[in-house]
Amino acid sequence: MKRWLILCGILLLLGIQGSNFAQGKRTTLDIYYVDVEGGASTLIVTPAGESILVDAGWPGFDGRDANRIQAAMKRAGINQIDHLVMTHYHTDHFGGIPELARRVPVKNFYDHGPMTALAEDKDFATKYTAYRAAAKDKTITLKPGDTIKLQRATGLPPITLQVLAAHREVVAGKGTPNPACATASLKEEDPSDNARSVAFMLRYGSFDFFDAGDLTWNIEQKLVCPNNLIGEVDLYQVTHHGMNTSNNVVLLQSVKPTVAIMNNGPRKGGSADTIKALRELPSLKALYQGHRNVTIPAEQNVAEEFIANLDEQSDAANMIRATVDANKRSFTVTNDRTGKSQTFQLK
Ligand SMILES: [Zn+2]
Repeated sequence: MKRWLILCGILLLLGIQGSNFAQGKRTTLDIYYVDVEGGASTLIVTPAGESILVDAGWPGFDGRDANRIQAAMKRAGINQIDHLVMTHYHTDHFGGIPELARRVPVKNFYDHGPMTALAEDKDFATKYTAYRAAAKDKTITLKPGDTIKLQRATGLPPITLQVLAAHREVVAGKGTPNPACATASLKEEDPSDNARSVAFMLRYGSFDFFDAGDLTWNIEQKLVCPNNLIGEVDLYQVTHHGMNTSNNVVLLQSVKPTVAIMNNGPRKGGSADTIKALRELPSLKALYQGHRNVTIPAEQNVAEEFIANLDEQSDAANMIRATVDANKRSFTVTNDRTGKSQTFQLK
């Protein structure tokens, strides 16, 4: 009897530990848009349980962004970050890394390469020192064409992450000649670190997700003109929080996203031009905004059901989440504010 009780106890413990996310039970690729109030932090958890965090939000605010990333990790059933991809050295992307790394194990740090100074940030040296210390001085430089090796889950399609742009360079390759380039035009050269952003494609089976950090117009154009080096995508992370110095219209027309998710703040990004350009894409089925942009008329925002946070002073930090089911050849996007989901077929 006693032995039987002990056995039951062990089984119960194993059951609790392995609930939901036990190895082999996880069957989807999950993407969480952590609300970091106009910064960037995208958590990706693969079907094999590996985690990729793309940027870590802002520093300060009593650890607000680290709290929110940890909440997303908890929901995703993970307790460490396997790959921390930092797109570029702006405070709203890399400022939150030291605080997060103090709290959770981070295995690998990736960036576009070492930097000595940043013209647009006089406090760069202090932030950079904190970042290097968090990474214990061990970072991996990503170059266009590089891949981050990811495990394939048993019985599910392969998953790959390939860098398409970094440090103002774009991936070598032929791509396909792009007729959309007929209307392409360049903007003034951007000397800031935005133009050095790491841009990558995450592929899981036939699902394609493109995230370009804050990459700006002219480098975006190099990715699609004269040849389209990106291809078409299912999910597009609206670049640079939706600012109109990014989201080159020719790139949008070339990658033909089915769904776009914008990590704007109430007063940052979410430009009316970008929202309009996205909504005019024949391919686009849905555009989600992290926040309502309170600086433009309501009708220039998307409909409320596609906005995760409506109030300017919101502590709710509702997430937008995407879940990819390769077996069903579909992905589902959920607005956590309403709990409403919509499912889209993969291309
Ligand atoms: Zn940014």
